[in-house]
Amino acid sequence: MFDNLSDRLEATFTKLSGQATINEVNIGIAMRDIKRALISADVNYKVVKKFVEEVRAKSLGEGVVKSVSPAQMIVKIVNDELVELMGGEHKPLDLNGSRIPAVVMVAGLQGSGKTTFCAKLARRLKKNGRHPLLVAADVYRPAAVEQLKTLGGQVDVPVYAIDEQDALKVALEGVEEARKTARDVVIVDTAGRLQVDEAMMVEAETLKEKLGPDEILFVVDAMIGQEAVNTAKIFNERLDFDGVVLTKLDGDARGGAALSIKQVVDKPIKFMSVGEKPDDLDLFYPDRMAQRILGMGDIVSFVEKAQETLDLEKTQEMQSRLLKNEFDLNDFYDQLQQLKKMGSIQGLVEMVPGLNKMIPKQDLEGLDFGPIEAIICSMTKDEKHRPEIINGSRRQRIARGSGTSVQDVNMLLKQFKEMKKMMGSVTRMTKSGRKIMPQN
Ligand code: GDP
Repeated sequence: MFDNLSDRLEATFTKLSGQATINEVNIGIAMRDIKRALISADVNYKVVKKFVEEVRAKSLGEGVVKSVSPAQMIVKIVNDELVELMGGEHKPLDLNGSRIPAVVMVAGLQGSGKTTFCAKLARRLKKNGRHPLLVAADVYRPAAVEQLKTLGGQVDVPVYAIDEQDALKVALEGVEEARKTARDVVIVDTAGRLQVDEAMMVEAETLKEKLGPDEILFVVDAMIGQEAVNTAKIFNERLDFDGVVLTKLDGDARGGAALSIKQVVDKPIKFMSVGEKPDDLDLFYPDRMAQRILGMGDIVSFVEKAQETLDLEKTQEMQSRLLKNEFDLNDFYDQLQQLKKMGSIQGLVEMVPGLNKMIPKQDLEGLDFGPIEAIICSMTKDEKHRPEIINGSRRQRIARGSGTSVQDVNMLLKQFKEMKKMMGSVTRMTKSGRKIMPQN
């Protein structure tokens, strides 16, 4: 799922990763690429247009954190917009009304995965301590009734089915049955047709009116892309449903339905079905889905932290000092303080484009800030500014003052020297426009 979209977005970010700043030109190119990627993922054109406009405005706007690379910033902005596009927060099923049993009505076209979903939902509710009853109100297809009975058996939830052609009667009796048998949720599987037709819509409207369901869920097959969105629109106009269930996301759905439906019908996607088995049902979380599409969770959370904690002015000042080769141990110390706020040295590495390729990850893991801080704090102002003056006796004094050994002091000075050298070369490389990939 979403493979092609993910690949194309990643290619866009890669193109940006050699750029030192965000500007109208590189953003223009990136937006064109993102637009094409979304359209080829079968996302609704209007939705794409709005999406790209938002990303462009945010990329050139004020919220941009200068201390992260343009590619990282765009990943974060695209991520946030994807989350927004899919509805922001997860919207749970709301069965907390006062009426018992609560009623969930499930609607959708035949073949969408409606009946399978009813059983999966029953299983999920049962696991959560509810006592569901499945009601077979898809009265026109005997096979559908049989299927629900089989699936009910698999998930160990009773199924109410009677030989009756009136769907409303079945549903109302089902609710009555639930009352009598102390079932607290009724899941009504309604009739589906291969295409939207008037008789089906009228029946669904009547069921809605007479049953007064707590939740109406519309089930739609994500594989049909734009068509899913059109069908959702028609059902929503008639039923004003509460939420969408996207099915078959385990297949090679291109993503269009997941990315367009919320914007077009303004109803949240509540569940996603990812297979045929009873457990293949997940709650739909827009943020998790966005990260799945981008596959760049690390960068997203890093930029988030940077936005929350980094002192922008200081970082910018430091970067310009780095460029002028004025970066000293005072800066290094400041940098450490910021990193400590962010909780990871990986952050520093990601902040400087290209550095992540040069420092092996294992060198960073488990690095202890404590002694480094103590050593720097035991230096004089002059020593911090010009570490080259730190001779043998000064090293001994610093080691004593910081409760470390001369070897530790030597090590830090050596590391600082190497880091400075490396940062200098990275900065020169970045300036000369060489392509450097951010690591995800
Ligand atoms: P209904 O006609 O809408 O009730 O659809 P069904 O529940 O009978 O499902 C139609 C077909 O799709 C069945 O073969 C299901 O096993 C299959 N199906 C349902 N949900 C999923 C899913 O999430 N992934 C996959 N791969 N197949 C599914």
